[in-house]
Amino acid sequence: MGVTTRDAVSACAPGRVELLGNHTDYNQGVVLGAAINRVICVSGDMNDRTIRLISPGFRDVEIQATELQPQQENRWANYILGVAAELRQLGVPVRGFHARVRGDLPIGSGLSSSAALELSTALFLLKLFPFELTRLEIAKACQRAEHRYVGVQSGLLDQVISLFGRAQHAVFFDCRTEEIRTIPFPSSLGLIIADSGRQRELASGEYNLRRTETQNAAAAFGVTALRDLKPAELDRANIPDLLRRRARHVVEENDRVWRAVQLLQAGDGHGFGKLMNESHESSRRNFENSTPELDLLVSIAQRLPGVLGARLTGAGFGGATVTLCETNEAPAIAQQLAKSYSAQTGTEPQVFVCEIADGAH
Ligand code: ADP
Ligand code: MG
Repeated sequence: MGVTTRDAVSACAPGRVELLGNHTDYNQGVVLGAAINRVICVSGDMNDRTIRLISPGFRDVEIQATELQPQQENRWANYILGVAAELRQLGVPVRGFHARVRGDLPIGSGLSSSAALELSTALFLLKLFPFELTRLEIAKACQRAEHRYVGVQSGLLDQVISLFGRAQHAVFFDCRTEEIRTIPFPSSLGLIIADSGRQRELASGEYNLRRTETQNAAAAFGVTALRDLKPAELDRANIPDLLRRRARHVVEENDRVWRAVQLLQAGDGHGFGKLMNESHESSRRNFENSTPELDLLVSIAQRLPGVLGARLTGAGFGGATVTLCETNEAPAIAQQLAKSYSAQTGTEPQVFVCEIADGAH
């Protein structure tokens, strides 16, 4: 029958919250994030002939194992098929498999369900079809899957944090040198995620447009990447206003990340929170990747006692915000945030206190 009986295998990968460093990754910059205690898991077993994929809320997909290619409909499957294809390219003997996706990570909210799905797929496939790869090779294969199969030119940040995250630590990632460092996150500080409920479709264009704009901005300033531009050089003459604002966001975000690393090490939550507020303001004015819903969540949070800072997290254009607060105030703040937002909009946002978790394993 061509059916192999084997114990089902399973692998999980967490979502991540971007703490600072917005749209810096593909500009060869620096980022600070953390893996969170919400995951996506892929489980199943191998099959000689077909690849069959199931996820609640999405249409089932079945293709021949020999016909691995991007799907025009059922685009969600491309995250999984893309990883299978990239692993094959690296020599992993991926054949057919049946996989079921589940998890408690909000999808399409800027918490990187895409990278969590890619990584849980990669680890699942590496268990089914054993092969030695370094963790960085796995992260990069997942990123290429997103580029080639999904069409989103995402940076490496999401995959790195979902894989290298460490409980109660922030992850610093230098996207140029590929340095990855974990920094203890003070236990006195809490994080709240608020999902505006408005989903983004990254592939739909805004994300890739920002990528192009920041490349154009680097060219206008005569640097290889915005990483190389100093804050003091932002006021140079003869740069179109839009490109200058895009550059300002990225350059100052990098600067905020470097400062935030120092502040974290010193346990300065107030200073860190202030940088988060500045980051959101820059998203709003310079990068134009916020939305009225995100602005409202941020402004409600910023006025609540015990809150140290708030900003959008991830790509923006919808999705979620992250609020930094004092740990023992977190549950009350989360409740108040949800209440005020729904009173003002009639929409119930998904708000939860999140813990910093270990990366995928
Ligand atoms: P984010 O990564 O911030 O959550 P993206 O737009 O990058 O947002 O990725 C969301 C997309 O990833 C979804 O539209 C879907 O195609 C795919 N995806 C993520 N999680 C799942 C899941 N559990 N089941 C099926 N598809 C998923
Ligand atoms: Mg994503």
